[in-house]
Amino acid sequence: MTRQYAPVSPPVALTIAGSDSGGGAGIQADLKTMEAHDAFGTSVITATTAQNTTGVHDVNVLPTDHIEAQYDAVVEDFRVQAIKTGMLATAPVIETVVDCLNRYERPLVVDPVMVAATGDRLLSEDAEAAYADLIKQSTLVTPNVDEAEILTETEIDDAKAAEQAGRELVDQGADAALVKGGHLDGDDVVDTLVVAEADGEPRTEQFSHPRIETAATHGSGCTLSSAIAARLARGESLSTAVAGGVAFMERAVRYGIDVGSGPGSVHHLV
Ligand code: PLP
Repeated sequence: MTRQYAPVSPPVALTIAGSDSGGGAGIQADLKTMEAHDAFGTSVITATTAQNTTGVHDVNVLPTDHIEAQYDAVVEDFRVQAIKTGMLATAPVIETVVDCLNRYERPLVVDPVMVAATGDRLLSEDAEAAYADLIKQSTLVTPNVDEAEILTETEIDDAKAAEQAGRELVDQGADAALVKGGHLDGDDVVDTLVVAEADGEPRTEQFSHPRIETAATHGSGCTLSSAIAARLARGESLSTAVAGGVAFMERAVRYGIDVGSGPGSVHHLV
């Protein structure tokens, strides 16, 4: 009998990020989230971490020529419709990714991962400045408040300051910025989206959801940025993709997974 191929051709998304051996964040969270959105997930691994729910025990950054080879292998063969970046670890890796993206441009979601919730660094301190070139290429940059403070060199203690930081990131060249409010005080979490407009002032939208008291937030940032990338790959507008991504992430945190002896992680298949 001749083999039958299933007549499906899902949109393809690409994650450029680090591996979390604990499965809750990084590449593992990205691919699960993309599949949950019916997008076919491809990956470029920048670094592997030896990690579990108690913390990051070791980090191995992969050679930049191998990172580039993974990227070329994916984009030469697949019709990648949207890309996200996560843990990039060092300045040379960020520079390599910027070069790669210049060769094949697609809607790009940049999650500027710097420090894990356990406090372990996932980006060397001297690499923070290298993000400037990646931000210029981004369709959307998705910092939490701590990352936004570093990228904009401002202090953020309320939603108004978060909006100002979003505007600053748009001034730096991002098409849009989503400043996540999870680290700010308040019964509700307010995420602020600032979108550059061709003529005139940037537009602001806020996405608000009740705060969920849980320690199992590991992987929430990865899940949000991957959900948005998968939705962009499916052809959604930026606002729709962000609204859908925030709602997905809220459910992923609400139905967190209790695995391992430390805090659990978010649920990627909600
Ligand atoms: N990427 C990797 C490989 C990680 O280990 C982590 C966190 O530990 C992250 C990204 C960021 O995770 P989160 O989605 O919790 O911000």
